[in-house]
Amino acid sequence: MRVGLRSTAVKRDPEKAKRAAADPARPGEDCKAEPGTFRPRVDARRCEGKSDCAAVCPYDVFEIGPIDEGVYRAMPALVRFKLWVHGKKTAHTPRAEACRACGLCVVACPERAIELVRGADVAARGASSRK
Ligand code: SF4
Ligand code: SF4
Repeated sequence: MRVGLRSTAVKRDPEKAKRAAADPARPGEDCKAEPGTFRPRVDARRCEGKSDCAAVCPYDVFEIGPIDEGVYRAMPALVRFKLWVHGKKTAHTPRAEACRACGLCVVACPERAIELVRGADVAARGASSRK
């Protein structure tokens, strides 16, 4: 798995992926979407850097690493405190264009921090992504 300089390598967890695949609430298109049609959008206010998303994604879309300092400072005090407790880590999506909309990350996230959106919508709403 390729990771950024300060990101944590996350091993894929086939058991977690299997559980997520069986979840009836799984959204998306079952890996049938053209790459880049959909992207995961991470709500940095909810994300606690627990890395389940990275552990289930078949296309290596996520990296877990430090939250951007500017984004962090702009958050409400309570959210900043929660992020601080969790080491100020968050999920980034440096390979979002590889997403095939399987929906596994959405149901695997314990914080309900991920939604799938059509590619163009992500930038407009300020996702936690970096290239
Ligand atoms: S988006 Fe959810 S699953 Fe991914 S790191 Fe954040 S809390 Fe964990
Ligand atoms: S929906 Fe996209 S980002 Fe989420 S696990 Fe599937 S391929 Fe990865």
